[in-house]
Amino acid sequence: MTTLEKIVSLTKRRGFVFPGSEIYGGIGGIYDLGPLGVELAGNIKTAWWENIVRKRDNIVGLDSSILMNQKVWQTSGHVESFADPLTECKNCHLRFREDILPKDKKCPNCGKNNWTKPQMFNLMFKTHIGPVEDKASETYLRPETAQGIFVNFRNVVDTMRVKLPFGIAQIGKGFRNEITTGNFLFRVREFEMMELEYFIFKDQSEKDFDYWQKERMNWFISLGIKKQNLRFREHKETERAHYATRSVDIEYNWPFMEWGELEGIANRTDFDLTAHAKASGQDLSYFDEEKGKKMVPYVIEPSVGVGRAMTAFLIDAYHEEKDRIVLKLHPKLAPVKIAVFPLLANKPDLVKKARSIYQLLTTNYQLLPVAWDDRGNIGKRYYAQDEIGTPFCITIDFQTLEDDTVTIRDRDTTKQERVKIDKLAKTLEEKFS
Ligand code: ATP
Repeated sequence: MTTLEKIVSLTKRRGFVFPGSEIYGGIGGIYDLGPLGVELAGNIKTAWWENIVRKRDNIVGLDSSILMNQKVWQTSGHVESFADPLTECKNCHLRFREDILPKDKKCPNCGKNNWTKPQMFNLMFKTHIGPVEDKASETYLRPETAQGIFVNFRNVVDTMRVKLPFGIAQIGKGFRNEITTGNFLFRVREFEMMELEYFIFKDQSEKDFDYWQKERMNWFISLGIKKQNLRFREHKETERAHYATRSVDIEYNWPFMEWGELEGIANRTDFDLTAHAKASGQDLSYFDEEKGKKMVPYVIEPSVGVGRAMTAFLIDAYHEEKDRIVLKLHPKLAPVKIAVFPLLANKPDLVKKARSIYQLLTTNYQLLPVAWDDRGNIGKRYYAQDEIGTPFCITIDFQTLEDDTVTIRDRDTTKQERVKIDKLAKTLEEKFS
């Protein structure tokens, strides 16, 4: 059975994810991405960006700052409402988020059921801009990237000749001082978000909401997550964020909780643009040429954390077989695409030939990164590559020296085929396409 502990252990020993500040005992809810984690996260972000921005002619990208004028957060309602209910166990004095306590309301630490009255706790990290620490210099690390999109709405409309419906997409860090962190990258305090604000005509809200629900669900499935592990869940009115009139989560069947949010899709209406226009005195409307008048668009927002998505991709790809553990990651997401091995490390002819093939493949951008491994025996090398999800391993053996062929081993079937070196790059390209 796939457990989170197995994923945490694999990702630590294979260099995907390390606890933050580990040599000092760590820091709650903060993780660092290791060499393979940065590749995997990068591939997830690229796949999202390609699907959302590059393949569509009505969505553009943005990269706004983490720090923003404090007025942004006052106006957006985050200072007032971006809070979770906090309760303290009267027995052990640990604090928890009241709305996600276990069903029996027993303290996850000491097992007692004796809580203080919940109080709302704001999740934004506060900081100061400049050398004076007073109210006027106060601001927050952004808890979502969306506000950077709303405050740049005018800039994008004026520079990009966009026509409604159109979207602005952004990938960037978000910070939330979560009361209870845990379940690995599922709930952390610093994380990357991939957010799209899709601006629409109000009367198209339902249609566009449905469209994005399907698009986002299909994205996860197209990258290998099994259909049966995904579902939609409509939020009840009491659950929705202060800005939303409708919210649907794409939920994943996590091993540590039955179903839980993977991605949120919300109808944020014209709440943010209207509030910022009023507070800033700037015109954040859109000129509807057909109707010949100004209007403030509604917005549909699909929003997902890179780390939360990465956790789902890893869990879904994790397989234990008779004599190996294998991450059956989609080739697009795999942190290493190909590994090249000389059959034996102590045969200079083999090593030289293998090096030339490694060089050949590293000139092909599509196939990068290519790993080189000449340690231990071939079985161990396959085992190591299976654990990190490398789709193909190329072995250079004695036959290579005779007929210029190599073997390609398929990660999922473990089957090997022999291919002429001059056809190798093309064959691999086809396998990845
Ligand atoms: P939750 O109910 O789980 O606290 P939320 O409803 O506050 O989440 P949203 O504001 O909808 O979350 O955030 C959008 C997405 O960002 C989530 O679907 C999730 O993928 C990611 N996300 C939110 N909070 C965290 C976190 N603390 N750690 C990691 N990812 C997060």
